[in-house]
Amino acid sequence: MKAIVWNGPEEMSVEEMEEPRVAPGTVIVRPEAAGICGSEIEGYLGRMGNRTPPLVMGHEFAGTVTEIGEGVNEDLLGRVVAVNPLSSDGTCPLCRAGNTNLCPNRALIGIHSPGGFAGYTLAPVENVYPLPEGVEARTGALAEPLANGVHAARLGLAGHTVERAVVIGAGTIGLMCLQAAVLEGIPNVSVSVIEPHDARREQALELGAGAAYASGEEAREALEGPTEGLGAGLVFDAVGAEVTRQMALDLMRPGGRTVFVGLHDDDTTLGFHGVVRGQFDLQGSYAYTGEDYERALEWLVAGKAGIGELPPVLPLEEGPGAFAELVRGPSARIKVFLAEMGE
Ligand SMILES: [Zn+2]
Repeated sequence: MKAIVWNGPEEMSVEEMEEPRVAPGTVIVRPEAAGICGSEIEGYLGRMGNRTPPLVMGHEFAGTVTEIGEGVNEDLLGRVVAVNPLSSDGTCPLCRAGNTNLCPNRALIGIHSPGGFAGYTLAPVENVYPLPEGVEARTGALAEPLANGVHAARLGLAGHTVERAVVIGAGTIGLMCLQAAVLEGIPNVSVSVIEPHDARREQALELGAGAAYASGEEAREALEGPTEGLGAGLVFDAVGAEVTRQMALDLMRPGGRTVFVGLHDDDTTLGFHGVVRGQFDLQGSYAYTGEDYERALEWLVAGKAGIGELPPVLPLEEGPGAFAELVRGPSARIKVFLAEMGE
């Protein structure tokens, strides 16, 4: 089979590889849509310590079950499934408390085992979710990024009353945080987005943002009137750059909360007197639980969330070029899907 292999910083090629072998309790999936994640762009540059070359990436994918291992229900054969790439041990104190996303023994398909940018991918049977008839693989492949948004919105709203929310960044994760925040109960007129890219701002408005601003200053100014000069109760930083982290602090009202989802920069300098005096709640959000993933898939299947018109699935051969292009910065294209078959 073919697979896209990441061989080190900015080194990626399509190579011939041996197909994965099915094991008891697992299935082989032929990915029909595998999305490129923003974290994989950082990974491609060699900026993510958790990825070791050579590696087949791809953790946002859906496709057809072509083989089943011992103990797996035969009805799964031939079904189109979405794959939750995240596994945890289920037995540690964090898993027992429901925080499976924080499990020290967690493993992600596409990081710890070969991912979806390949002809075939191995997945544990408990991680695959058959899609209803007529729902296509690209929709299923969005469950993983949306699950990140579901998790972030859940953490943002837990025990916190929110009048105004702001999402920084309208790439995939930002758009998912936006939709999850609205679907979790914040009226959409109260959720605004900050995004310098025109087409992405447009898309945020189409997907339910009440307003979209090109800069943090514009957004801060717009918050003045409706919040009596105080600022937003909830901010999502879907970028994770030093400037957006600082922007989040500038946008918050006293007692506000920011959910940090983006992983662009590691080290960041922030003025902490403001954090203390503003009694800010700085909340990290990492990945998602099985419940978050299921919620995301449910919304996608019901057509309540998405990324608008789905882009075509490109053949794996175009993968290395797509990564190289995405490194150059955000484009109007929110999501790039790849698969061996293309479309
Ligand atoms: Zn665990």
